[in-house]
Amino acid sequence: MEITRPTSLSEALDARAQDPGADLLAGGTDLMVEVNFGLAKPEHVIALRRIDEIGEVEDRRIGAGVTWARLEESDHRALAQLSRTVGSPQIRAAGTIGGNIGTASPAGDGLPWLAAVDAEIEVASQARGTRRLRWDEFFTGVKRNALEPDEVIVAAVLPERVPSNQHFAKIGQRSAMVISTVSAVVVRDDDGSVRVALGSVAPTPIRALAAEQLINENPQPTDEVLAEFARTVSAEVTPITDHRSTESYRRHAAGVLARRLLERCLAS
Ligand SMILES: Cc1cc2nc3c(=O)[nH]c(=O)nc-3n(C[C@H](O)[C@H](O)[C@H](O)COP(=O)(O)OP(=O)(O)OC[C@H]3O[C@@H](n4cnc5c(N)ncnc54)[C@H](O)[C@@H]3O)c2cc1C
Repeated sequence: MEITRPTSLSEALDARAQDPGADLLAGGTDLMVEVNFGLAKPEHVIALRRIDEIGEVEDRRIGAGVTWARLEESDHRALAQLSRTVGSPQIRAAGTIGGNIGTASPAGDGLPWLAAVDAEIEVASQARGTRRLRWDEFFTGVKRNALEPDEVIVAAVLPERVPSNQHFAKIGQRSAMVISTVSAVVVRDDDGSVRVALGSVAPTPIRALAAEQLINENPQPTDEVLAEFARTVSAEVTPITDHRSTESYRRHAAGVLARRLLERCLAS
């Protein structure tokens, strides 16, 4: 197996342009699992870990190469909360937000947060330079995204204002080292408006727009409105039954989880 180790983004884009079939490797915590199970047989790997330009958090930009260990210390509360739940300390030391975005698994714990804050994904290629896609343009299906073969994910770019009142939680088959059965992020702005994003309940991360509207019209919700909010979230998700859970459990849990997080935001 050939391994290219670029030390700058332009070297990486050059390598990608010359061999668009090569596999990009960040922390390897998704890619190497595929290799170990014989599902991927890379002939050429472009290793991204030596590229400082994608390894920094700067103001509104989170570099694709930033690890979960680093994001555990994020000022964005829900991002820090979710980062602490990813795998084990070893996985968090190696795994990156860019790898989570690249894999685009419905269960990727970083993705509902990107959806809740309305992040853009910045990608670059040698031929066309840089472009940014809204999160809902980037994630196109189960483990599918809009990245072109010659592109590299550079960063997640946040909007100018990200409300500080935000919470993440996930449900899984055990309490640690667990892939999400359902995950959720609720963000509440100072004017009482909310954004509700969910993972593992649709092919891509989703926003529960009808539930958001209900709370935006009732910024100080009564118990009845909270119950209606949970029912609305449950009605908006489109989960499947698989080896981790059933469609009906996921649907129920999505509503319960979203209501719980909204109540935490209301109490903050
Ligand atoms: C034991 C274990 C536990 C885990 N627990 C969790 C969990 O709790 N929650 C969770 O969400 N995930 C979990 N994961 C999955 C994994 O750790 C995360 O998805 C992680 O963020 C992947 O990042 P990485 O840097 O290791 O990606 P890699 O494995 O290096 O890459 C993953 C994919 O993204 C592509 N890629 C990487 N960087 C870029 C880039 N800059 N541009 C374009 N494409 C890129 C790669 O080509 C590859 O297709 C777990 C994995 C393991 C093995």
